[in-house]
Amino acid sequence: MIVRRRWTAAATTAILFSAVLSHPGPGSAAPADPATPITLSATETALVRVQLRDQAQLDRLVAAGTDLANRPRTRDGRILADLVLTGAQLAELTSQGATAVQVVQRAEDGSRHYADSVRAAEARTAAGLRAPAAGQRTTTAAVVDTLQVQQAYWWTTGGQTFLQTQVATTATDDPDVEITVSWRTSDGATGTFPLNRFEDSGEYQYHYALPQPVPNRPVQLTATSSLGGVSRVVTPTLWPNATPPPLPAGYQKDFIDAYLTPTDIQARIKRLARQYRDLVDVIDLPNKTQGYRRNAAAYLGDPAVAAVVVESVRFGDQGMNGVQVRTVDPGRRNRPLTIGYRDRVLTVSLATDTAGKTVSTTDEVAAAINARQPDRFRATVEDGSAGLPMPVAGPARLDDGLQGTEVPARPWTVQALRLGVHRDGSRVGVLAYSQEHAREWATPLVTLEFAERMLANARTDPATRELLEQVDIFVIPMVNPDGANYSFNDFNFQRKNLVNHCTGPARDPKNRTSWGVDINRNYTVGSYFDGYVGGSANCLSGTYSGTAELSEAESSNVIALAQAHPNITFAMNVHSYGGYFMWPPGAYRADGRITLPRPSIDESTLFLDSARRIVGAIAQERGTVTWPSQTGPVADVLYSAAGNSADQLYYELGIFAWDFEVGNDRWNAATSEWEAVGFQPPFDEAHGESQEYAGGLVEMVRVARDYAAAQPAP
Ligand SMILES: [Zn+2]
Repeated sequence: MIVRRRWTAAATTAILFSAVLSHPGPGSAAPADPATPITLSATETALVRVQLRDQAQLDRLVAAGTDLANRPRTRDGRILADLVLTGAQLAELTSQGATAVQVVQRAEDGSRHYADSVRAAEARTAAGLRAPAAGQRTTTAAVVDTLQVQQAYWWTTGGQTFLQTQVATTATDDPDVEITVSWRTSDGATGTFPLNRFEDSGEYQYHYALPQPVPNRPVQLTATSSLGGVSRVVTPTLWPNATPPPLPAGYQKDFIDAYLTPTDIQARIKRLARQYRDLVDVIDLPNKTQGYRRNAAAYLGDPAVAAVVVESVRFGDQGMNGVQVRTVDPGRRNRPLTIGYRDRVLTVSLATDTAGKTVSTTDEVAAAINARQPDRFRATVEDGSAGLPMPVAGPARLDDGLQGTEVPARPWTVQALRLGVHRDGSRVGVLAYSQEHAREWATPLVTLEFAERMLANARTDPATRELLEQVDIFVIPMVNPDGANYSFNDFNFQRKNLVNHCTGPARDPKNRTSWGVDINRNYTVGSYFDGYVGGSANCLSGTYSGTAELSEAESSNVIALAQAHPNITFAMNVHSYGGYFMWPPGAYRADGRITLPRPSIDESTLFLDSARRIVGAIAQERGTVTWPSQTGPVADVLYSAAGNSADQLYYELGIFAWDFEVGNDRWNAATSEWEAVGFQPPFDEAHGESQEYAGGLVEMVRVARDYAAAQPAP
């Protein structure tokens, strides 16, 4: 969905939030208990879990173009959304009935520099409706719906047992149906909990709830509906009920000591290649990125009064940082508007009238710069300044605004590691790739830990050696280095790459943290350009799909590697956060929610069975269990993501392509809440994610080995 909006910070805020707040919907959920107030200064940006007032508030956020990073979350009828927002935005939401429940992460210093830039960036949202009322509704005499328990799973993590269910009613069109689950455990305890209705794209899917703590192993479960429907009695089954082989004595792991910048990752790739020469190739991917660079820009005039944005055509590091621009009064009557460029100073001499008064407008100044210095400069009238008298201003220095001083500005060569004894295409291939999204700092830790485990143990563990005999492993630890450099140095919530395709007023430097292409919306299958949901044509959107399919070097590199190695049969796209395990279809069309084709029964079985194995391997590390409600096709368990990489790998190249969202919510026993970990958690948490999900990738290699062994000989 595309929402036209103006791009000044104030205007965007006003439109976004007035749209949200002026249409309170029916059936507001009760607010949460008052807790410690969460405060942000007006210009501070943070990732905050917010309990929204009601479904209508969520719908307005979505309609206003808020990027959705995650699946609907509900708890006891409350709608929880994770939003990147400023203190001012949070205050406005709060004043209208929303409640901040957790500051997941605050912006780093580098990003405060740009904190006035408005980004209602990725949001994890919730689409549940109302919780059942406290009292039972009057039940009608006739039973008018039938309930089917679609899922009933239990597991134990950290000593706590959880139960999760999914139930569908045949009364699909009645938004007021209330479903309650009753459970009994092996030691005779009983209890109930309500489910929440889950709709997606306006269509009823099922009722479900977040995993519920129960005192012991649940042995019986029934669901009842407010319309009188009663499900069959079901025995919950153990999830994922798959355990990988135990790690052998002396198994080497834990190769991650800190978050890794792109430069760190480059060094590690080099070190692994040197240390394990016989098992590693380094592949330079064919498309160099733009590099950590930007056009240099300055405001000529006062943006609050009247200004023109002047920008260099070349990047700032190509000799344009520090170039000056100014307007001058010629001090004589009847002068024309002239442009001069000398000694790195662009001088605009304003036109004067017969009295010697300057008469040039902002539009005339911008047009003159564009007409007479098209090879060096681009000028745009600042939003709100159109037609105003151009003041005498400057000199102002053009600057690219980039803060990183240790980062090479040149175009970046993205690299893949190829691991295996037989790196000749004769073995089944597996691809793991991470950090398509710049801010997901934990994700390259996962793939690098995985790579080094395979290499280090190849010399000491016969089972690992055997895997490297049978499987050809490709790893791209960092797909998006330029965005990652920006995330580390300038704006830690950066998601996209650094290529700015914006034109006109959207190029105003105040939008600089919103530029870039969402790499995982830039692929060719089920794309925005094909009419699928979950990508955007708006260059400032968090899910901007680019100018065309594969317009970006980063996405083209992933596909080039897969195309060059047709033995690749399995792939894992590693993202954060939230704790998901997903596969195609990853997108649907808006009208009628028509997804990309569903995998066949056999392939769906392969996806699910393999997922259970891999989820079991992830749990082996520290008990983290990826929920059954977050294991499945992207379009079902998360949202529609038009033009994502897994869909192209699967539908076009025939690769079984999965996605991880590492960083599962952590259970807080004191508050009985699941808590979000965010994109850049304290390092201890990121380290834990790297260890557990690396174990998941090792299991994917075993899945590939078993798959290849089961194929008929050629
Ligand atoms: Zn991501």
